[in-house]
Amino acid sequence: MTGVEFNHDGACYEQKAKDVIVSAFVVETPRLLLNSACSRYPDGLAQRI
Ligand SMILES: Cc1cc2nc3c(=O)[nH]c(=O)nc-3n(C[C@H](O)[C@H](O)[C@H](O)COP(=O)(O)OP(=O)(O)OC[C@H]3O[C@@H](n4cnc5c(N)ncnc54)[C@H](O)[C@@H]3O)c2cc1C
Repeated sequence: MTGVEFNHDGACYEQKAKDVIVSAFVVETPRLLLNSACSRYPDGLAQRI
């Protein structure tokens, strides 16, 4: 992991980070993680923790 990409007001931003903590409460946290699929985690990050 190198950081996060996010959209705000129609623009896409990238924030590099050594560690990323997702703390968007009980429903939104797994939803965000499940939507964070990539080549290393094709089923989304929430399936690996
Ligand atoms: C009325 C009420 C009273 C309470 N009183 C107490 C109390 O006295 N003592 C106690 O210990 N607990 C109390 N609680 C419970 C406590 O508030 C929660 O357990 C605690 O806030 C959970 O913290 P959290 O960081 O997991 O979530 P939150 O504090 O809900 O923080 C989640 C954050 O993620 C953000 N977010 C959500 N979705 C996204 C997204 N897609 N992208 C970006 N950001 C997002 C939200 O805007 C929010 O700022 C109370 C709760 C309520 C509703």
